[in-house]
Amino acid sequence: PLNGSSGALRGLEEVFIAVKTTKKFHQSRMELLLDTWISRAREQTYVFTDEEDEALQKRMGDHAVFTNCSAEHSHPALSCKMAAEFDAFLASGLSWFCHLDDDNYLNPHALLKLLSSYSPAWDVYIGKPSLNRPIQASETLPNNQTKSVCFWFATGGAGFCISRKLATKMAPWASGHNFVSTSELIRLPDDCTVGYIVECKLGGHLLPNALFHSHLENLQLISRPQLQEQVTLSYGVFESKLNVIELSGPFSQEEDPSRFRSLHCLLYPDTSWCPQPIFR
Ligand code: UDP
Ligand code: MN
Repeated sequence: PLNGSSGALRGLEEVFIAVKTTKKFHQSRMELLLDTWISRAREQTYVFTDEEDEALQKRMGDHAVFTNCSAEHSHPALSCKMAAEFDAFLASGLSWFCHLDDDNYLNPHALLKLLSSYSPAWDVYIGKPSLNRPIQASETLPNNQTKSVCFWFATGGAGFCISRKLATKMAPWASGHNFVSTSELIRLPDDCTVGYIVECKLGGHLLPNALFHSHLENLQLISRPQLQEQVTLSYGVFESKLNVIELSGPFSQEEDPSRFRSLHCLLYPDTSWCPQPIFR
């Protein structure tokens, strides 16, 4: 496929990629993503954060979105960012909304391959189920009574995608101030709220997919040939140990603790900072 340095990948122009971040991770996490996968999907990727930052703006231009959301790790603050992502997607007119955390590696080729099996004119909500069973929550009703609800949701830390058709139906609960109000009804985080809207309000279903990964699973279990097929990967702490994908090089653990730079060189060996084969 034609894949010039501009990052143009046929079909990707219909995907809106939203990355959630916060001021304290601009340097430690966003720089890594900008150097790696975002460089191959620059036109499609928007970063949603909570504080103005010249350095970030310089690298992303108007693709850095400074929300007025608070920089807290609270449910309302995180829901505020998800609402901003959702609204920007609705306004974009694009076919697919994909949400990622700032500790995710996205493989644009693998994402396109996956999405090409579906139509944005269908109701599609696809990602990694957070639990191996539906979550039970208590929904606050207008008369101050509560109702027990049960639904599946895709873990935000592994990334997930939603078709335009489904997003349009979600708007009454998810657009503008509605998302924060909806998340208050069940008092759960933003990613749970997405599942709640899709399954409890619209009667839709999460399509479970094993190509999305968060650091809440053992990332060492993904074999090297499989690595290149995954839609998302991650790094972080799991059961109080550093949890990263297994890749021996080209960079050392010290140079590349997340292993994202090594993975990027595996996927895009022509990258300027990747070690070049000797015959060049
Ligand atoms: N995050 C945020 N505000 C905060 C803390 C975290 O927007 O106050 C974002 C962070 O940038 C990341 C996501 O929320 O995209 C998850 O954060 P983190 O990976 O630190 O926590 P986890 O839930 O994975 O343990
Ligand atoms: Mn994380």
